[in-house]
Amino acid sequence: MTGPDLTALHPRLPSPLQEPADERFARHGVRLLLKRDDLIHPELIGNKWRKLAPNLTAAAGRTVVTFGGAYSNHLRATAAAGRLLGLRTIGVVRGQELSDRPLNPSLARCTADGMRLHFVDRSTYRHKTEPDTLARVLHEAGASNAYVIPEGGSNAEAVRGCRALGEELRGHADVIALPCGTGGTLAGLAAGLAPGQRALGIPVLKGGFLGADIRSLQHAAFGGPRGDWTLDDRFHFGGYARTSPELDAFARDFEERHGVAVERVYVAKLLYGLVTLAGEGAFPRGATVAAVVTGRPFPSAVPA
Ligand SMILES: *Cc1c(COP(=O)(O)O)cnc(C)c1O
Repeated sequence: MTGPDLTALHPRLPSPLQEPADERFARHGVRLLLKRDDLIHPELIGNKWRKLAPNLTAAAGRTVVTFGGAYSNHLRATAAAGRLLGLRTIGVVRGQELSDRPLNPSLARCTADGMRLHFVDRSTYRHKTEPDTLARVLHEAGASNAYVIPEGGSNAEAVRGCRALGEELRGHADVIALPCGTGGTLAGLAAGLAPGQRALGIPVLKGGFLGADIRSLQHAAFGGPRGDWTLDDRFHFGGYARTSPELDAFARDFEERHGVAVERVYVAKLLYGLVTLAGEGAFPRGATVAAVVTGRPFPSAVPA
Protein backbone atom coordinates (compact mmCIF):
# COMPACT_ATOMS: atom_id res chain seq x y z
CA MET A 1 0.00 0.00 0.00
CA THR A 2 1.17 3.51 -0.66
CA GLY A 3 0.93 6.35 1.82
CA PRO A 4 -1.60 9.15 1.71
CA ASP A 5 -0.82 12.32 -0.24
CA LEU A 6 -0.38 15.00 2.40
CA THR A 7 0.49 17.74 -0.07
CA ALA A 8 -3.12 17.53 -1.28
CA LEU A 9 -4.08 19.10 2.06
CA HIS A 10 -2.13 22.27 1.15
CA PRO A 11 -0.29 22.93 4.41
CA ARG A 12 0.92 26.49 4.83
CA LEU A 13 4.63 25.74 5.03
CA PRO A 14 6.93 27.35 5.95
CA SER A 15 4.50 28.74 8.51
CA PRO A 16 4.28 32.56 8.75
CA LEU A 17 6.68 34.53 10.95
CA GLN A 18 5.18 37.71 12.41
CA GLU A 19 6.51 40.59 14.47
CA PRO A 20 3.89 42.01 16.85
CA ALA A 21 4.73 45.26 18.63
CA ASP A 22 4.90 44.47 22.35
CA GLU A 23 6.46 47.03 24.67
CA ARG A 24 7.08 44.41 27.36
CA PHE A 25 9.90 43.18 25.10
CA ALA A 26 10.77 46.40 23.27
CA ARG A 27 11.56 48.22 26.51
CA HIS A 28 14.35 45.70 27.14
CA GLY A 29 15.67 46.02 23.61
CA VAL A 30 14.31 42.57 22.69
CA ARG A 31 12.47 41.73 19.45
CA LEU A 32 9.56 39.30 19.74
CA LEU A 33 8.55 37.17 16.76
CA LEU A 34 5.62 34.77 16.54
CA LYS A 35 6.18 31.61 14.50
CA ARG A 36 2.59 30.86 13.49
CA ASP A 37 2.50 27.06 13.34
CA ASP A 38 -1.15 27.40 14.37
CA LEU A 39 -1.81 28.50 10.77
CA ILE A 40 -0.29 25.44 9.04
CA HIS A 41 -3.64 23.74 8.55
CA PRO A 42 -7.16 24.47 9.88
CA GLU A 43 -7.57 20.98 11.38
CA LEU A 44 -4.13 19.36 11.54
CA ILE A 45 -2.91 22.13 13.73
CA GLY A 46 0.56 23.31 14.54
CA ASN A 47 3.10 20.85 15.81
CA LYS A 48 0.50 18.10 15.39
CA TRP A 49 0.90 18.50 11.63
CA ARG A 50 4.68 18.36 11.87
CA LYS A 51 4.59 15.24 14.07
CA LEU A 52 1.77 13.36 12.35
CA ALA A 53 2.72 13.96 8.73
CA PRO A 54 5.73 11.60 8.66
CA ASN A 55 3.83 8.98 10.69
CA LEU A 56 0.84 9.02 8.35
CA THR A 57 3.21 8.48 5.46
CA ALA A 58 4.91 5.62 7.32
CA ALA A 59 1.54 4.05 8.16
CA ALA A 60 1.10 3.57 4.41
CA GLY A 61 -2.67 3.19 4.55
CA ARG A 62 -2.85 0.89 7.59
CA THR A 63 -5.24 1.65 10.44
CA VAL A 64 -3.62 4.15 12.81
CA VAL A 65 -3.91 3.58 16.57
CA THR A 66 -2.91 6.17 19.09
CA PHE A 67 -3.41 7.11 22.74
CA GLY A 68 -4.59 10.10 24.71
CA GLY A 69 -6.55 11.62 27.56
CA ALA A 70 -10.09 12.93 27.28
CA TYR A 71 -8.99 16.36 26.00
CA SER A 72 -5.98 15.36 23.92
CA ASN A 73 -5.09 17.71 21.03
CA HIS A 74 -3.15 14.80 19.55
CA LEU A 75 -6.20 12.50 19.45
CA ARG A 76 -8.26 15.19 17.74
CA ALA A 77 -5.56 15.87 15.18
CA THR A 78 -5.19 12.14 14.44
CA ALA A 79 -8.95 11.78 14.02
CA ALA A 80 -9.08 14.78 11.67
CA ALA A 81 -6.20 13.34 9.66
CA GLY A 82 -8.12 10.09 9.34
CA ARG A 83 -11.14 11.84 7.88
CA LEU A 84 -9.10 14.09 5.57
CA LEU A 85 -6.93 11.27 4.25
CA GLY A 86 -9.40 8.39 4.33
CA LEU A 87 -7.49 6.42 6.99
CA ARG A 88 -9.07 4.28 9.70
CA THR A 89 -8.16 5.58 13.16
CA ILE A 90 -8.59 4.13 16.64
CA GLY A 91 -8.07 6.21 19.77
CA VAL A 92 -7.20 4.43 23.02
CA VAL A 93 -8.53 6.75 25.73
CA ARG A 94 -7.41 6.88 29.36
CA GLY A 95 -10.32 6.21 31.75
CA GLN A 96 -12.69 3.24 31.53
CA GLU A 97 -15.36 5.25 33.37
CA LEU A 98 -15.60 7.68 30.44
CA SER A 99 -17.26 4.97 28.36
CA ASP A 100 -20.50 5.23 30.42
CA ARG A 101 -20.81 9.00 30.04
CA PRO A 102 -21.78 11.33 27.23
CA LEU A 103 -18.65 12.20 25.26
CA ASN A 104 -17.03 15.54 25.99
CA PRO A 105 -16.76 17.93 23.00
CA SER A 106 -13.18 16.88 22.27
CA LEU A 107 -13.97 13.14 22.12
CA ALA A 108 -17.24 13.83 20.30
CA ARG A 109 -15.20 15.63 17.65
CA CYS A 110 -12.95 12.56 17.36
CA THR A 111 -15.90 10.21 16.76
CA ALA A 112 -17.50 12.68 14.34
CA ASP A 113 -14.26 12.43 12.37
CA GLY A 114 -14.64 8.67 12.26
CA MET A 115 -12.22 7.70 15.00
CA ARG A 116 -13.23 4.59 16.93
CA LEU A 117 -12.66 5.10 20.66
CA HIS A 118 -11.44 2.30 22.90
CA PHE A 119 -11.51 3.15 26.61
CA VAL A 120 -9.08 1.51 29.02
CA ASP A 121 -8.68 1.74 32.79
CA ARG A 122 -5.96 3.96 34.18
CA SER A 123 -3.68 1.13 35.24
CA THR A 124 -3.73 -0.42 31.77
CA TYR A 125 -3.16 3.01 30.29
CA ARG A 126 -0.14 3.61 32.49
CA HIS A 127 1.44 0.36 31.27
CA LYS A 128 0.52 0.81 27.61
CA THR A 129 4.12 0.96 26.35
CA GLU A 130 4.96 -2.47 27.85
CA PRO A 131 4.83 -5.05 25.05
CA ASP A 132 2.35 -7.44 26.73
CA THR A 133 -0.05 -4.71 27.72
CA LEU A 134 0.19 -3.06 24.32
CA ALA A 135 -0.49 -6.34 22.54
CA ARG A 136 -3.54 -7.01 24.75
CA VAL A 137 -4.94 -3.50 24.20
CA LEU A 138 -4.44 -3.71 20.43
CA HIS A 139 -6.08 -7.12 20.37
CA GLU A 140 -9.09 -5.90 22.37
CA ALA A 141 -9.37 -2.85 20.12
CA GLY A 142 -9.36 -5.10 17.05
CA ALA A 143 -6.20 -3.45 15.79
CA SER A 144 -3.46 -6.05 15.97
CA ASN A 145 -1.95 -5.08 12.59
CA ALA A 146 -2.32 -1.36 13.02
CA TYR A 147 0.35 1.34 12.88
CA VAL A 148 0.89 2.54 16.46
CA ILE A 149 1.69 6.16 17.29
CA PRO A 150 2.54 6.74 20.97
CA GLU A 151 0.67 9.05 23.32
CA GLY A 152 1.32 12.67 22.40
CA GLY A 153 2.61 11.51 19.01
CA SER A 154 6.32 11.71 19.85
CA ASN A 155 8.30 8.92 18.23
CA ALA A 156 11.45 9.09 16.12
CA GLU A 157 9.47 9.88 12.94
CA ALA A 158 7.70 12.76 14.67
CA VAL A 159 10.92 14.18 16.08
CA ARG A 160 12.57 14.09 12.66
CA GLY A 161 9.46 15.82 11.26
CA CYS A 162 9.95 18.73 13.67
CA ARG A 163 13.50 19.38 12.46
CA ALA A 164 11.97 21.43 9.61
CA LEU A 165 10.53 23.85 12.18
CA GLY A 166 14.06 24.64 13.36
CA GLU A 167 15.31 24.91 9.78
CA GLU A 168 12.58 27.45 8.96
CA LEU A 169 13.88 29.63 11.80
CA ARG A 170 17.55 29.65 10.79
CA GLY A 171 18.82 33.21 10.54
CA HIS A 172 15.64 34.67 12.09
CA ALA A 173 16.10 34.51 15.87
CA ASP A 174 18.66 33.97 18.64
CA VAL A 175 16.29 32.15 20.97
CA ILE A 176 13.40 29.99 19.82
CA ALA A 177 10.91 29.34 22.61
CA LEU A 178 8.14 26.76 22.66
CA PRO A 179 5.88 24.99 25.13
CA CYS A 180 6.64 21.32 25.83
CA GLY A 181 4.44 18.35 26.61
CA THR A 182 6.36 15.22 25.63
CA GLY A 183 9.27 17.36 24.38
CA GLY A 184 9.17 15.76 20.92
CA THR A 185 8.75 19.07 19.14
CA LEU A 186 11.70 20.61 21.00
CA ALA A 187 13.87 17.54 20.34
CA GLY A 188 13.35 17.94 16.59
CA LEU A 189 13.38 21.72 16.43
CA ALA A 190 16.73 21.96 18.24
CA ALA A 191 18.25 19.62 15.67
CA GLY A 192 17.20 21.94 12.85
CA LEU A 193 18.67 25.17 14.24
CA ALA A 194 21.91 26.76 13.09
CA PRO A 195 24.95 27.04 15.40
CA GLY A 196 24.50 29.98 17.79
CA GLN A 197 20.73 29.57 18.00
CA ARG A 198 19.17 28.14 21.17
CA ALA A 199 15.84 26.46 21.81
CA LEU A 200 14.12 27.29 25.09
CA GLY A 201 11.43 24.87 26.26
CA ILE A 202 8.67 25.76 28.71
CA PRO A 203 7.32 22.47 30.18
CA VAL A 204 3.58 22.55 30.91
CA LEU A 205 3.79 19.43 33.08
CA LYS A 206 5.24 19.34 36.55
CA GLY A 207 7.95 16.81 37.18
CA GLY A 208 11.39 17.77 35.96
CA PHE A 209 11.81 14.54 33.95
CA LEU A 210 11.56 16.21 30.57
CA GLY A 211 15.27 16.79 29.96
CA ALA A 212 15.95 13.04 30.07
CA ASP A 213 12.97 12.36 27.79
CA ILE A 214 14.25 14.87 25.22
CA ARG A 215 17.70 13.29 25.27
CA SER A 216 16.26 9.85 24.62
CA LEU A 217 13.96 11.17 21.87
CA GLN A 218 16.98 12.75 20.17
CA HIS A 219 18.88 9.51 20.56
CA ALA A 220 16.04 7.56 18.93
CA ALA A 221 15.62 10.07 16.09
CA PHE A 222 19.22 11.10 15.38
CA GLY A 223 21.46 8.65 17.22
CA GLY A 224 22.68 11.23 19.74
CA PRO A 225 22.29 14.76 21.12
CA ARG A 226 21.58 17.61 18.70
CA GLY A 227 21.50 21.39 19.00
CA ASP A 228 21.57 23.79 21.91
CA TRP A 229 18.50 23.71 24.15
CA THR A 230 17.48 24.49 27.72
CA LEU A 231 14.29 24.19 29.77
CA ASP A 232 12.74 26.62 32.23
CA ASP A 233 10.54 24.71 34.68
CA ARG A 234 8.93 27.68 36.41
CA PHE A 235 5.82 28.17 34.30
CA HIS A 236 3.74 24.96 34.53
CA PHE A 237 1.16 26.54 36.91
CA GLY A 238 0.84 23.34 38.91
CA GLY A 239 0.73 20.86 36.02
CA TYR A 240 -0.96 19.79 32.82
CA ALA A 241 -4.11 21.82 32.02
CA ARG A 242 -3.82 23.60 35.38
CA THR A 243 -4.36 27.31 35.18
CA SER A 244 -4.91 30.34 37.40
CA PRO A 245 -6.97 33.53 37.13
CA GLU A 246 -3.70 35.39 36.51
CA LEU A 247 -2.74 33.13 33.61
CA ASP A 248 -6.19 33.40 32.10
CA ALA A 249 -6.17 37.20 32.40
CA PHE A 250 -2.72 37.26 30.83
CA ALA A 251 -3.92 35.15 27.88
CA ARG A 252 -7.01 37.32 27.31
CA ASP A 253 -4.85 40.45 27.41
CA PHE A 254 -2.42 38.95 24.88
CA GLU A 255 -5.35 38.11 22.58
CA GLU A 256 -6.59 41.71 22.78
CA ARG A 257 -3.16 43.22 22.20
CA HIS A 258 -2.22 41.09 19.23
CA GLY A 259 -5.37 39.51 17.80
CA VAL A 260 -3.92 36.01 18.19
CA ALA A 261 -6.11 33.33 19.81
CA VAL A 262 -4.08 31.93 22.72
CA GLU A 263 -4.40 28.19 23.34
CA ARG A 264 -4.56 27.80 27.13
CA VAL A 265 -2.91 24.43 27.92
CA TYR A 266 0.39 25.16 26.18
CA VAL A 267 0.69 28.50 24.42
CA ALA A 268 -0.53 30.67 27.32
CA LYS A 269 2.20 29.26 29.58
CA LEU A 270 4.84 29.83 26.91
CA LEU A 271 3.90 33.48 26.40
CA TYR A 272 3.56 34.12 30.13
CA GLY A 273 7.01 32.64 30.64
CA LEU A 274 8.53 34.79 27.91
CA VAL A 275 7.03 38.03 29.22
CA THR A 276 8.33 37.13 32.70
CA LEU A 277 11.81 36.31 31.37
CA ALA A 278 11.96 39.55 29.37
CA GLY A 279 11.00 41.46 32.54
CA GLU A 280 13.81 39.71 34.41
CA GLY A 281 16.31 40.83 31.80
CA ALA A 282 17.00 37.21 30.82
CA PHE A 283 17.52 38.15 27.16
CA PRO A 284 20.39 40.47 26.19
CA ARG A 285 19.56 43.79 24.50
CA GLY A 286 19.47 43.31 20.76
CA ALA A 287 18.30 39.69 21.03
CA THR A 288 15.48 38.32 18.90
CA VAL A 289 13.17 35.80 20.53
CA ALA A 290 10.80 33.72 18.40
CA ALA A 291 7.82 32.17 20.20
CA VAL A 292 6.39 29.14 18.44
CA VAL A 293 2.58 29.31 18.49
CA THR A 294 2.21 25.54 18.52
CA GLY A 295 -1.58 25.38 18.43
CA ARG A 296 -4.96 27.03 18.64
CA PRO A 297 -7.81 26.93 21.15
CA PHE A 298 -10.48 24.26 20.89
CA PRO A 299 -13.39 24.20 20.14
CA SER A 300 -13.90 27.69 18.79
CA ALA A 301 -11.54 27.27 15.87
CA VAL A 302 -12.81 23.83 14.84
CA PRO A 303 -15.96 23.57 12.75
CA ALA A 304 -18.82 21.84 14.59
C1 LIG B 1 0.69 18.76 21.68
C2 LIG B 1 1.02 20.20 21.87
C3 LIG B 1 2.27 20.61 22.39
C4 LIG B 1 3.29 19.64 22.93
O1 LIG B 1 4.17 19.15 22.01
P1 LIG B 1 5.28 18.06 22.45
O2 LIG B 1 5.93 17.68 21.18
O3 LIG B 1 4.51 16.91 23.05
O4 LIG B 1 6.17 18.68 23.44
C5 LIG B 1 2.53 21.96 22.45
N1 LIG B 1 1.61 22.87 22.08
C6 LIG B 1 0.38 22.52 21.61
C7 LIG B 1 -0.59 23.57 21.26
C8 LIG B 1 0.05 21.17 21.50
O5 LIG B 1 -1.18 20.82 21.06
